[in-house]
Amino acid sequence: MKALFLRENNQLSLEETPKPVLQNDDDVILKVTASSICGSDIHFWQGDFPLYPNFIIGHEFVGIVEQTGKNVRKFGAGDRVAAAANPYCGVCTHCKEGKVYACLTNGMFGGGKLMGDLPGAQAEYVRVPAADSCLVPIPDHVSDKAALLVGDVLSTGYFAVTNGCPQPGDDIAIFGAGPVGLCALASAKLFSPARIFLVDVEDYRLELGRSMGATHIINPNNGRAAKAIKKITGGRGVKLAVDAVGLRTTISECISCATEGGVVSLVGIGPARMDDFPIGKLFYKNLTLKAGLVPLNNMDRLMKLIAEGRLNVAPLITHEIKLDDILEGYRIFKDRKDNCIKVMITAD
Ligand SMILES: [Zn+2]
Ligand SMILES: [Zn+2]
Repeated sequence: MKALFLRENNQLSLEETPKPVLQNDDDVILKVTASSICGSDIHFWQGDFPLYPNFIIGHEFVGIVEQTGKNVRKFGAGDRVAAAANPYCGVCTHCKEGKVYACLTNGMFGGGKLMGDLPGAQAEYVRVPAADSCLVPIPDHVSDKAALLVGDVLSTGYFAVTNGCPQPGDDIAIFGAGPVGLCALASAKLFSPARIFLVDVEDYRLELGRSMGATHIINPNNGRAAKAIKKITGGRGVKLAVDAVGLRTTISECISCATEGGVVSLVGIGPARMDDFPIGKLFYKNLTLKAGLVPLNNMDRLMKLIAEGRLNVAPLITHEIKLDDILEGYRIFKDRKDNCIKVMITAD
């Protein structure tokens, strides 16, 4: 089969490699019908993390079950499914407490030895461990494009919003109109906020956000976003401020624009340290700070919302590329060519 390897010196190369085989009784072999390129893949490619190269990359994917291990109960050959980017066992202590992001056994698809050594899904086939826990069925009338983001960025956007327990009529600010920020926007709408402020430096991303339901779009190149949000809300600020960027400035701006008793929810991978962290504002405004890795155990709920027409993040997929041309897909995504938000890689 064909698969995209991350090789030494940060080279990506599409190569022929043996098709995966079942290794455990709870495995599934999946024929990948669509995958997408993630910001994390770009970090791996650019050498931003200390990795052990020589692995198949890719962790966002949907496909058709081809083969199942003998303990797989929920799925059979021919089923269309979406997968969790970080598979989890469902039975370890952490999983049983709902902390599936901290599963003691599995890692991440396409992250190499550092992350569990699970070959990734920018390939024709992939082996999925603990399939009953980390796959969800895709209803017949839901396209691959509509389902593709469920197992990573949509789950993350949903988590970012539910961290704040928003009530109808609340105001919400989202910093970052990339895939996660736009998924947070789509998720925020489920809770009927009065206003959704979307902040980004790229106007084309803001315009997409506006078409998806942002009531106010703010480009901080035109002045401080928190200041603009405070002004529009009559000095109060927002009940929930989501950071889907991970920069010191966006984190500070979230804390500045949150109202007293509000929640700041961090899902962008931020700096390891922040010496100028505005702890005073957090304290004197009684803010709650929520942060962390997404638990991928809401995929069934998200798929249901998609199937019922309540949630639509398909507009984020701006480019479709064949697996044979995946390197071009990487260039388009990295350089944000042609107003790219997300690239879908399809099987040949
Ligand atoms: Zn991802
Ligand atoms: Zn587990």
